[in-house]
Amino acid sequence: MLPEVDVAIIGAGVIGLATAREIAQGKKEVFVFEKNRSSGLETSSRNSEVIHAGIYYPEDSLKAELCVEGKKLLYNLCDKHNIAYKRCGKIIVASDENEINWLKELYEQGRKNGVDDLVPLSRTEVKKLEPNIEARAGLLSPSSGIFDSHNLLKFLYSQAREEGAAFVFSTEVIGVERTGTKYKVQIRDRDGISAVIAHIIVNCAGLNSDKIAQLVGIDIAKSGYRLHYCKGEYFSLDSKYRNLVSRLIYPVPEQAGHGIHWRQALDGRVLLGPSARYVEAIDYSVDETHRQYFYNSAKRFLPFVELEDLAPESAGIRPKLQGAGEDFRDFIIAHEEKTGFPGLINLIGIESPGLTAALAIARYVGKMVDDLFD
Ligand SMILES: Cc1cc2nc3c(=O)[nH]c(=O)nc-3n(C[C@H](O)[C@H](O)[C@H](O)COP(=O)(O)OP(=O)(O)OC[C@H]3O[C@@H](n4cnc5c(N)ncnc54)[C@H](O)[C@@H]3O)c2cc1C
Repeated sequence: MLPEVDVAIIGAGVIGLATAREIAQGKKEVFVFEKNRSSGLETSSRNSEVIHAGIYYPEDSLKAELCVEGKKLLYNLCDKHNIAYKRCGKIIVASDENEINWLKELYEQGRKNGVDDLVPLSRTEVKKLEPNIEARAGLLSPSSGIFDSHNLLKFLYSQAREEGAAFVFSTEVIGVERTGTKYKVQIRDRDGISAVIAHIIVNCAGLNSDKIAQLVGIDIAKSGYRLHYCKGEYFSLDSKYRNLVSRLIYPVPEQAGHGIHWRQALDGRVLLGPSARYVEAIDYSVDETHRQYFYNSAKRFLPFVELEDLAPESAGIRPKLQGAGEDFRDFIIAHEEKTGFPGLINLIGIESPGLTAALAIARYVGKMVDDLFD
């Protein structure tokens, strides 16, 4: 007889960890399978650690709703459990007339999403807040911030365990097969291949989440579940740039990302990035030859930056549903009853603002799971 669990979660990034904690609190038996040797080694530890306000996304989208809710939950959790953060605020800057019109649209979009503290800034007002920044106009978002995401990951992991969730590391899910009302989850670890039976599967496999859906038997091309990888690189700036700017500074957003921004991390390091380039494979190296591109992007609003002060730092890969040149795509958080897989919950395309939204996403999935057990 194969071992049986209530809920099997695939993936222990921030989404799998937060979801495991949420579901285990509801007294369900939870197993989390993670192919790496520990949690949070992929996209969840390769990002900007920015707490987003929820400005950019269309109203009523999951990205907007869960970002705004997740931001509040995250600040509260950081306060309650001593996870370091800084509500430093952010300014989105416009460098020309066209971008000023963009800012107006972003202001309206943010308000529709419930971000009601945005402040449009003139050139003089930007200068007053950030004397070293060059901009024709700006949009201030006081509720944006940065935080220690590594501590959040540790906290969620230990809380999920305290609530009774079991983590199985170095164990890759290689097959999921429907057997009656349950699922047989095939796993591969150091000792070989084995299986468990789960009543509910929650697919939090990040960059592999489309492949997991395919393994179960979903036609990912037809369902629009196929992921596109979009790489974001970071360059660091010399330590002489510390404390020249106190807020996050973003350009108006690009098609595939939020734009190369300025961020001073909690440890004082100053970083530029991430860029956005569609790639075929997962490769976290940073291409030095992109230095000039970063410099040109930053120079428009950070006139004091010198080319030789940029050094390659790190990279992350966005699991995007939106291909190059395509329109906005929302997070997919779906119970697959309609596709013939009751008890399977897919989370696909959990790119930015997934870190900010993680606690709200976990609540959302927790409710879905509760409904399934009712
Ligand atoms: C460059 C960049 C910058 C970003 N900046 C921000 C930001 O500032 N603010 C913000 O809110 N969001 C940001 N994000 C988005 C955020 O990082 C992600 O939304 C979030 O980390 C996604 O978490 P996850 O748990 O879904 O994925 P992951 O962290 O990738 O976790 C998925 C896990 O599943 C495991 N897995 C995969 N396949 C299997 C399998 N078959 N069996 C077992 N385990 C498996 C993987 O090993 C991995 O650990 C950024 C993303 C990128 C790429």
